[in-house]
Amino acid sequence: MKAAFSLLWLLLSICVGLPASAWGGSGDVASVSLAGRNYVRLLDWARVNNLETRWLKRDETIQLTNRGVRLVFAMDSREAEINDLNVWLSYPVLLRNGSAYVSEADLKTAVKPILYPPRNSASAKIKTIVLDPGHGGKDPGNQDGSRQEKKYALLLAEELSDQLKHAGFKTSLTRTSDTLIDLPVRPDIARRRGADLFISLHWNSAGSGKNEVKGVETYCLTPEGASSTNAGGEVIGAGAKPGNLYNNKNMFLAYTIQRSLRKNLTVEDRGIRRARFAVLRTAEMPAVLIEGGFMSHPAESKHIYDPAYRKQMAKAIVEGVLAYRAQVEQPR
Ligand SMILES: [Zn+2]
Repeated sequence: MKAAFSLLWLLLSICVGLPASAWGGSGDVASVSLAGRNYVRLLDWARVNNLETRWLKRDETIQLTNRGVRLVFAMDSREAEINDLNVWLSYPVLLRNGSAYVSEADLKTAVKPILYPPRNSASAKIKTIVLDPGHGGKDPGNQDGSRQEKKYALLLAEELSDQLKHAGFKTSLTRTSDTLIDLPVRPDIARRRGADLFISLHWNSAGSGKNEVKGVETYCLTPEGASSTNAGGEVIGAGAKPGNLYNNKNMFLAYTIQRSLRKNLTVEDRGIRRARFAVLRTAEMPAVLIEGGFMSHPAESKHIYDPAYRKQMAKAIVEGVLAYRAQVEQPR
């Protein structure tokens, strides 16, 4: 119910809440240099974007809202909430003299694509989707006893392919059998097949001794110059990649899919994350990588091996893709 309300809020905001001209990510709001980066004072940015600010906990957690949007930022943290979904920022939110500051890079690459969804040109329709079951052949991926990630990634891809076809999309898989395909070849297959979207499918593992870790993560390519989610703020390999041409659509696709997974399944939201995965770096179309759950978690792994659960998960991903298409194909 909460999720349905949030979606309604989001739709309202897209239609009426935030005129794009008011976007204050850069230009309209003065930035200051903090910790060697450009930061924007949240209060100023909120004013330009017609958002009300309120400390949920003084000097610790701040909330920005209007009729359709709710953002929550925690000081000294990279974990933010956008419309009740976890989104990992590249840099921590900072507190200076009683004011909260967010990096200009995160406002531009994480917040903006969600609050102001990107649009396709009028003729560009989303028709063809290439799915990429992770691993294969001599690369089993994560393992849980005799169970191997590569098998369950392919099973999810097959189910998702069927359901996407049913929803009217043309789909294909980078691999349809237990074979290993080099990572850079996978997005290249998608390009050759004229894919409009590329979705890589994986199952996670937290390693030994961490079997309490569970939940769903959706990754998109780290923007050029920014820090990946698991890099702790450090910028590694940050040059522009072909996939960075689609930064806004990558982020919005990750958002609609993660949102639908969270809404439709009883799963922990581990958030939208950033990585420079090989399959995302060279994708010449909007691309995401879904880590659908943890094989290392005793209960979650049972779900992963259950065809009925994979069917539900595929249904949620389809809903996320449809939500993405509904926004992106809107007339400009
Ligand atoms: Zn994997």
